[in-house]
This record gives sequence, C-alpha cells and structure tokens, in this order.
Amino acid sequence: MTITTLSELAQQLSSGKQSSVELTQDYLNRIEESKHNAFISIDPEKSITAAKKADERRATGDTAPLLGVPIAQKDIFCIEGTLTTCGSKILENFVAPYTATVVQKMHDAGIVSLGKTNMDEFAMGSSNETSYYGSVSNPWGSQEQPLVPGGSSGGSAAAVAAQLAPAATGTDTGGSIRQPAAFCGLTGLKPSYGRCSRYGMIAFASSLDQAGPMTHTAEDAALLLNTMVGFDSRDSTSLELPAEDFTHNIDNSLEGLRIGLPKEFFSDGLDSEIAELIENAVRTYETLGATIKEVSLPNTHLALPSYYVIAPAEASSNLSRFDGVRYGYRAEEYSDLVDMYTKTRTEGFGEEVKRRIMIGAYALSSGYYDAYYSKAQKLRRLISDDFTRVFENCDVLMGPTTPTTAFAQGSRTDDPVSMYLNDIYTIPVNLAGLPAISIQAGLTQQNLPIGLHIISPYLQEAKLLNVAHKFQQVTDWHQKTPTISAEKGDK
Ligand code: GLN
Repeated sequence: MTITTLSELAQQLSSGKQSSVELTQDYLNRIEESKHNAFISIDPEKSITAAKKADERRATGDTAPLLGVPIAQKDIFCIEGTLTTCGSKILENFVAPYTATVVQKMHDAGIVSLGKTNMDEFAMGSSNETSYYGSVSNPWGSQEQPLVPGGSSGGSAAAVAAQLAPAATGTDTGGSIRQPAAFCGLTGLKPSYGRCSRYGMIAFASSLDQAGPMTHTAEDAALLLNTMVGFDSRDSTSLELPAEDFTHNIDNSLEGLRIGLPKEFFSDGLDSEIAELIENAVRTYETLGATIKEVSLPNTHLALPSYYVIAPAEASSNLSRFDGVRYGYRAEEYSDLVDMYTKTRTEGFGEEVKRRIMIGAYALSSGYYDAYYSKAQKLRRLISDDFTRVFENCDVLMGPTTPTTAFAQGSRTDDPVSMYLNDIYTIPVNLAGLPAISIQAGLTQQNLPIGLHIISPYLQEAKLLNVAHKFQQVTDWHQKTPTISAEKGDK
C-alpha cells in the first residue's frame, strides 16, 4: 500500500479524474469498515453535502488548492451542528452551536470534514487511553500486540496512518501532534503559539494550546497550514501577521544550514535504536550541505515539572465551565445545586482529568501559588531563554521526538509519571511558544516508526517545512506504511 497525499488528491480533483463526492464516499467507506476506533463520530450526510458543494464550486471555475479534499478533524474542534465530545463523557451529548475558526477557514477553502477523531479526554494524555470512547489501535501494531497510537491526537494519527483520511487536524499543548505523529510514522507540525486561532478549540491549557496539521509529507503540512492560519479577533492571543504561503520556499537549498543538536535530547532515557536512527538522519542533512554542532539547553530538565504545574493550573480553571448547568452531561440524581455540580463532575470526568484538576487547583490555591505556580512560570522563562540563546548560532535544532517507540496498550496506564515522560523533548517547545515538526526518520528492528524532531525560532514554520521537505526528497521513510492487510479497511 502506498501513501496518498493531499497534493496528489488535489491534482486528481482538479484534473476531473475524480469528484469530491466520490473521494469523500471512498474515505467514509474505509472509516466504516476500519477497526482502529480512530473516530468518535462521523456524519456521512454532512460530509457528502460539503463534497457536493466543493464539486459545484469547481464547476464554476474555483481553483482553491485543496477544494474538495476530505480530511479528519480532531474532536476537540467545535463544528456547528456536530457532536463535539473532546473525548469526554461530560460532553457526550454536546452538539456545538458554532464552528472553530481553523475549521471554518478550512471549510471556506473547500476542505471537506470526514468526521471527528478520537483523542485523550480533554487532550490530557499521550496514548489515547484516557478517552471515554475507548483506546485507539496504532496501525503499526497487530492484534497480538496492540500498540498505542500516542496522544492526545491519537485518533487523528491512526486515521492518517491507516489511510482512513489523507490528513487530519491535531492540537499540541505538550506534544499531542508531534508524539502521535512519531508513533504512527507521520509528519506533524505544531505551529508557533498565536499562529492559529484557538477560538472554538476546547481549551486545555490556554497559554500552550496550538492547532496544527498531521499529514504524510511536509508539503501537505504546508498546504494545510496555509488554510489554517490567520488573525482572529475572537482569540486575544491570535497574531496579526502578513499573509504567507508556506509552500513557497519549501524547496530552498539547505546549503549552509546550521543544525544544533541539544545534548539534553540525547539523554539516558533515550532508546539506543532511536538515537542511532536520528544520527543517520542528521548525517543525511550533512550530505545536503548542513553543518552540525552540539549545543546545550541546560534547563530542559525543568520543563516537565514546570509544565505539570502550569498546564493543570490552566486546565483546572478552563474546566470549571463543565458544571452540568449550561450544556453537556448532568448527573441524574442530586439533592441540591452543589450536589449536582459534584455528582456531575465526579461522574462526567475521567481519572486523569480529575488528577489534573486537583493538581492545578492545589497549585493555584492561596499559600501555594508562589511556591508552585509563580515558580513554574519562572522556570518557563529560563527554558525559553535557553532557546533564544542557542538560536543565536543555529538555524534549527534536531533530536528525537520521543524517547521510545509506540508502546503496548495498557503498559503505562498505572504509572502517570512514566506516561508523562513521553513528552520530555516536546514540552520545552510549547513552554517557549516555538514551532516544531516531527517527521518519520526511520524504522526500528521491530518495524516501528521513529520521529525526527525539528525546532525553529519563533514564526519560522516556513524554515521547518523547508528542512523537513528536503529530507523527504532524498529519503523514503515518510512513504513507509504499516501492514494493515488484516484490516478490512485496507484498500
Ligand atoms: N501528553 C501531554 C499531556 O498529557 C500533552 C498533551 C497535549 O499536548 N495535549 O499533558
């Protein structure tokens, strides 16, 4: 099975080889037949109606680049009239009354939404196992050895890897686009904080959350990013920037590119096979004209502790709105208002979400605020300053996206800290607000993909995409697909 890219599909649609309705129906069939549990909901009628509209637009001479191309949407994005659960029981009956800005922009560009993908509850997790709607199986695993797809955008990653969608949206607060992309052999881009509007994207940790594309190639990521970005007055942290075409410089030469390898990213916990494959990838960059040097981000070890104060603190505040009053789940039996709140939240939230709310509320409580929250903010600054310093002499940084490959389902659910350690290389980037990409850069002996993590200075997504694309021009790792012939969904 070969990969199908967005740019190929766009080509097929514009040449008239296939209509959007046919293409969309084909993907909907695959989704219905698949067993990965990658989707929480689909609404075939809505998708086909959108595809028809795209075909009509084309008939009138519209040549929007992704017109009629179907993609999957993470279930964190509100889409008007569509069930939007965020992976939680507390939103099991929530039909969004409005559409998230990034999704609206994609719809305006003619992109068809195929359905809502499974995810860790409120995007809290690294394995998709905290979803109320069940685990997702990584297409690179097998029935005998079921593997997690990563998280929290696990459904999106599995959907693209299993070719149930040519691309998907994800969100990344601490690694949720890049880590599942690495576990499923995809390209996943977390844009700079402020690049994509957060309006209509259910909030986890507002100072860290960013939406981004999950695709097979950097070129596809650029095409999709083009449709997602832009200023939005409804998000106070949205940036007003000049329009940019992220495909424009994607083929630039890498002659003279200065790559920094932070030594902290090659620490003890790193799987030795991954380390070797990353070294090989870096060598490929040397052949493309790049120069390599070791650098240091000395405060990297403070990222996880700082994140696990800041993110839960913000989450505890954001999630206070789920009270059973205005929307979502409400406990059936209660004695008074406070009892209703308590029972609703006790029954509606899963364990991991409750753990985060408790940690966050504790860190913000008077008496502990300075000891935890203020201190974490100071650490965040130190982490951010580390990046500023190394970027004085480097154009990009590289390392592994994750310390291990996809692990077995159930193997880490009882140990939150080992689960949190998954994001050890990705979290510093969110704390600093920087853009970063993960691309498939090899396969282990066990035939599992590994991710090369590339980080650039603020707002230099175009550089990241250029660096990723050039690698994909001279290697074929991104074209490797899992053997999913046992799946009925295999085409
Ligand atoms: N795995 C991390 C967490 O659980 C990051 C999640 C994310 O990026 N949404 O917080």
